Amino acid sequence: MRQKIVAGNWKMNTTVSQGIELINSIAAKIEEVPQDVKLIVNTPFTHLFPISKIIGDIKCPFCRSKIALGAQNCADKEVGAYTGEVSAKMLSSVASAVGTVAGAPEGAIGAPVEYVILGHSERRGYYGETNAILLEKINLALAEGLKVIYCVGEALEERKAEKHFEVVGNEIKEVLYQLTPEQMKNVIVAYEPIWAIGTGETATKEQAQEIHAFIRKTLEEKFGSLAEETSILYGGSCKPSNAKELFSQKDIDGGLIGGAALKAEDFIAIAKSY
Ligand code: PEP
Repeated sequence: MRQKIVAGNWKMNTTVSQGIELINSIAAKIEEVPQDVKLIVNTPFTHLFPISKIIGDIKCPFCRSKIALGAQNCADKEVGAYTGEVSAKMLSSVASAVGTVAGAPEGAIGAPVEYVILGHSERRGYYGETNAILLEKINLALAEGLKVIYCVGEALEERKAEKHFEVVGNEIKEVLYQLTPEQMKNVIVAYEPIWAIGTGETATKEQAQEIHAFIRKTLEEKFGSLAEETSILYGGSCKPSNAKELFSQKDIDGGLIGGAALKAEDFIAIAKSY
C-alpha cells in the first residue's frame, strides 16, 4: 500500500512569525486529516527550528504521527567554505538541538527534518541545478537519513512538442537510475509540469495519470516491484477544487502543493480530498 502524501512547499513565503502562525493553524486542524494521509510541511530554512519544536510539542500521538517536517533544498557539498549553503547534516541536526534551548524541558526533542525537496523546477531553472548536481544532493541527503521529494516535469514548449515523456524520462534515468534500490526506498517522486506551477493552470486528470503511469513504468524497468511502493505526487496549481479528481487517479499518490499550502484551510481541505 503506497503512502498517501500531501506536501506543502512554502517556497520563499512567510516571515518566521507568519510561518509559526501557519503551522499552528495547521496543527489545530490536523485531527480532520484522514488517518492514512501524511502531511509534510517544507518550510524555509529559517523556520525549521521553531516549527520543529511546535510539531514536536503536538500532544496527541495520533495527530503527531500525521505531520512531518521538510526543507526545500540542501547543498551539494558535505561541509566547508560554501558561503550561504545549508548542508544535509545541518538539516538532520535540527531536532536534537530543540532540547538544548534555555528552559526546554528535560529530554525535549523537536520533530526531525525528515524530508527535503530536490530538483524543483525553480531550482533547476533559476539556480542552474543540473541532474548531475541533483544526484550529488540526493546522495548526501539520503546518507544523512533524509527522505527526498524529487521533482520532475516538462516546460510548456516541451509539452507542446510532445517531448514530455522524453524530458521526464531523462530526469529519472540520469538521477534516480543512479541510486541503489535501498536508496530508492527513501525517494518520493513529484511530477510537476512547469506550465502548471503557480499559473492556475492544472494538468487534466488524464494528462496527470498518463505521465504518472509512465513514471511508475520507468521506475519499474530499473527497480522492479519497488516502483509499486513509490509514492508519486502531482504538483501544479493543485487546490481544494481539483484535488479530489487528481487524487482519485490510480497512479497519483497525493500532491506537492505550493500556493494553496500557505492557507491552513486550503491545505487541510486538500488533505481531506482523499
Ligand atoms: C510547487 O511549486 O511545488 C507548486 C506545486 O506550486 P503551485 O501549487 O503554487 O502551483
